[in-house]
Amino acid sequence: MRFYRPTWAEINLKNLEYNLSQIKSRVTPGTKILVTVKADAYGHGLIPVSKRLCSRAVDFFGVASIDEGIKLREAGIKTPILILGLILKKDIAPLFKYNFSTTVCDEELPRALDNMARKLKKRINLQVKVDTGMGRIGVLHYDAYGLVRKISKLKYVNIEGIFTHFAFADLNKDFTFYQIDLFDRLVKRLNKDGISIPLVHAANSMGLLDYKNSHFSMVRPGL
Ligand SMILES: *Cc1c(COP(=O)(O)O)cnc(C)c1O
Repeated sequence: MRFYRPTWAEINLKNLEYNLSQIKSRVTPGTKILVTVKADAYGHGLIPVSKRLCSRAVDFFGVASIDEGIKLREAGIKTPILILGLILKKDIAPLFKYNFSTTVCDEELPRALDNMARKLKKRINLQVKVDTGMGRIGVLHYDAYGLVRKISKLKYVNIEGIFTHFAFADLNKDFTFYQIDLFDRLVKRLNKDGISIPLVHAANSMGLLDYKNSHFSMVRPGL
């Protein structure tokens, strides 16, 4: 689609690399980094931005949709990709084909994934999104424990991650600390009961700058 508007953004990719190195210097070594590149990398250009950053030890890319993920794979990017948005059951085939991790927040999608994985004899990764107050995507925090237990019984899916998202990290510290606490307690309870999930993450850009106790095992800078 061609737009006839005399506006453009000029991105200095060297500065972008510098920003990533600043992020790395603010997290404990070993903390993984998922770079959020949804919406054409915030209008900065999905492919040039992702290509430049994936040479810099990015652990994951986060995209909103399967289509964005396919664009990354078609550009030759092999970095793990998490689809942050929800997808429909009928659209799960590309997850296997392109090796995407997907976000789940109910039982239905994991069951569909488990069925297809069994047929293809190929395990599939998923990450459980928990709603601690954002009110957008996610299983409500008080239902999350039960959901994770149920999903953990499925043979062909691997719960690779669990995450939540802040509603107003820039505006309301008390509420953000409350969200971190709810999430932390959930993860601890799961651990105590023998369910340990490798990727635990909550922090968007604001979270990672202002709330050190929100870093867990991965951070998700975007802005
Ligand atoms: C957009 C998004 C981010 C990044 O948020 P910023 O505020 O741009 O840093 C992180 N996690 C999820 C789930 C997102 O949708």
